[in-house]
Amino acid sequence: MLSRKTRHSSSSKRYTNFGYVLMGSVLVGAIGGWGYFQYSASKPPANTNTTLSVETVNHPRTEVTVAAQTTVSVFEAEEQFQQDHQAYMEEARARSQLRSHIDEEGYYATPQLAKKAIEAKWTLIPAVASPGDMILVRHQSPADLTWQGKKVKLQQFGSGYYAYVSIPISLKPGTYPIGNQTLSIIDKKFETQYLKVTKQMESMRQDTARIEADQKKINAARSKSEPTFLFTNDFMQPIEGTLTTPYGYTRYVNNKLDNRHTALDLAAPEGTPIHATNDGVVALADSLYLTGNAIYLDHGMNLFSQYAHMSKVLVKTGDRVKKGDVIGLVGTTGFSTGPHLHFTFWANNTPVNPNLFFKTTPFHWLQDSKKAP
Ligand SMILES: [Zn+2]
Repeated sequence: MLSRKTRHSSSSKRYTNFGYVLMGSVLVGAIGGWGYFQYSASKPPANTNTTLSVETVNHPRTEVTVAAQTTVSVFEAEEQFQQDHQAYMEEARARSQLRSHIDEEGYYATPQLAKKAIEAKWTLIPAVASPGDMILVRHQSPADLTWQGKKVKLQQFGSGYYAYVSIPISLKPGTYPIGNQTLSIIDKKFETQYLKVTKQMESMRQDTARIEADQKKINAARSKSEPTFLFTNDFMQPIEGTLTTPYGYTRYVNNKLDNRHTALDLAAPEGTPIHATNDGVVALADSLYLTGNAIYLDHGMNLFSQYAHMSKVLVKTGDRVKKGDVIGLVGTTGFSTGPHLHFTFWANNTPVNPNLFFKTTPFHWLQDSKKAP
């Protein structure tokens, strides 16, 4: 049995030990607290870990010890992080500036033409066009331009700001100012086509509710576009086919004046593979009423290509495609009289002549006037 004395002495030793521990802890706590106070005073508590470690531990002794342990390491890590981050950001900025110049230059036909465009305040690519065409506009700094009563926002690309401007098929020939430049619109003759369709097909055009519902889907798909030029190569014709209806034809359906045909109709056997005209993102792949199985590809900066009447769609909305990828098969779905591809481009929601694009790109429309035929 333990004597009272022994118990007392042992208990007194425990108190003494506890006293040392307490003093030690208070000392560590004071140093830690001071260190933490200095850190907090000299730097805003950017690192949430510090706050977290202090707050999550309830015991007062442990609290300051944790703070003392983490203060130095967080401070050093923070300093190092700031330095590394700054160096990284500077390097990235320099790299992207160099890249944007190289990138932009590479889109033009020659380095001389790129230089000419980059050094000018405004550049119209090209400065002469026809109704139904499209031009590319470049400006040196952020700007908007007004075209046909509508505001067109120029978007940054490389070291410049760009926008596609589509020329309505009904626009009168003449000169039109854009920035400090003048766009010349020269006359173009469009042929007339008479199309005979069955009574049943003719009645398809009267279901306005379905047509309007489709139009809403199409408008939504074309309302957002990638803020960069997604292509790096020339555009290609999606199928070889036989041209049955050229672009811009005035159409009479069963002797009634119809809309202008603002696309190419390329006839080909059912099932012929249809290739993506260039790199892009599928903005819409759907089965529509008049257009049949259709795809809208976004090529960036509000330029879209459209493929209609397909027998089969082989991509889905949101897919990224490369130039030449097979995206669907020729068919005769929707308002169509036989297997063909109805193909067109849209720039800022206006159809534009697809013939402008084949084996070239909008950037290559800027040509050396001396070399032009
Ligand atoms: Zn067509």
